[in-house]
Amino acid sequence: MNICNLHEELNLVFYDSLDSLEYNSDYELLIKLILSPRASENKVNQIGDLLISEFPNVYDLNNANLLTVKKIVKPIGYYNQKSLRLKSACDFVINQFEGQIPKKYKDIIQIPGIGDKCAKKYLSLINKDDYIIIDSHLIRVLTRLELISPNFSHVQIENFIKSNLKNSNYTDFSNLLNLFGKKLCKSRKPECTRCPFKNFCNFIN
Ligand code: SF4
Repeated sequence: MNICNLHEELNLVFYDSLDSLEYNSDYELLIKLILSPRASENKVNQIGDLLISEFPNVYDLNNANLLTVKKIVKPIGYYNQKSLRLKSACDFVINQFEGQIPKKYKDIIQIPGIGDKCAKKYLSLINKDDYIIIDSHLIRVLTRLELISPNFSHVQIENFIKSNLKNSNYTDFSNLLNLFGKKLCKSRKPECTRCPFKNFCNFIN
């Protein structure tokens, strides 16, 4: 089992299941990405659309009553933290970028609540930039399949993927690993009997 086989199989089995966030502007995408951690994309689309219809731009959301925002965001979980992040992000965009959400990594990473993963997801969708988006799912799957060592740094993981998987869409590959990690190769109780890689995996649950 090598990373090319893994990529091919993931493409075959999971490509059609890649969910997608629904958005019509960079503002809508940013809002949904801030709502995304530990939530399904269906839920993010649903709650995000409610929030966007109530507060259709950074200025409206910045001026919104925090309790009203929390009430809308509540069903998605971690609503206190996410509501504060939404308001802080809008405030920062207004004060630092004249209300325009930036499209460069060095700028967007400065927005409060936007980490490396969120910034790269945003730019891969808005600019079609190609990024390896490293998260806990990607690391877990590659480690269990013994393609990387558990103590690899993010830089080592990126170098490993780029040197072994040339001319690929790295964003798609990252998203496939993320999906596979969420659906089958879960942190607790991975569903190994249903896994297409069970014959190559020594982790087997
Ligand atoms: S066999 Fe189990 S642990 Fe191994 S990759 Fe598949 S789901 Fe993950």
